[in-house]
Amino acid sequence: MTDKIQKTDAEWREELTSEQYAVLRKAATERPFTGEYVHEKTQGTYHCAACGQALFSSDTKFDSGSGWPSFWDVIQEGSVELKPDYSHGMNRTEVVCSRCGGHLGHLFDDGPRDKTGQRYCINSVALELKPATGE
Ligand code: FE
Repeated sequence: MTDKIQKTDAEWREELTSEQYAVLRKAATERPFTGEYVHEKTQGTYHCAACGQALFSSDTKFDSGSGWPSFWDVIQEGSVELKPDYSHGMNRTEVVCSRCGGHLGHLFDDGPRDKTGQRYCINSVALELKPATGE
């Protein structure tokens, strides 16, 4: 793992778009079926939009019907950290980038049973797809 990135709130606000900032730094959730990667089928690697760390492979992306990009595994152990999240009166597991701490989405246990059974439900705006070809 690469070294952790720590920036001030002002620095993140400067670097990220307002949508990225709201999700990655303030744990907002983009509206379902609005993100650019919901139906994305391109082969490649999804990186953290804030720090560039590789997070998910298109090989583990599946159509969950949820309206958010969904993956049944991370690209590499340790690429994300999981945190209990009791906000909004729910008991969920928050998924954050292990390098910059940026909020990515949540983890649920209703993923494909023939795979890991897990569903990483991730905001498109927190991701940047780098296509496998011409990378
Ligand atoms: Fe990151």
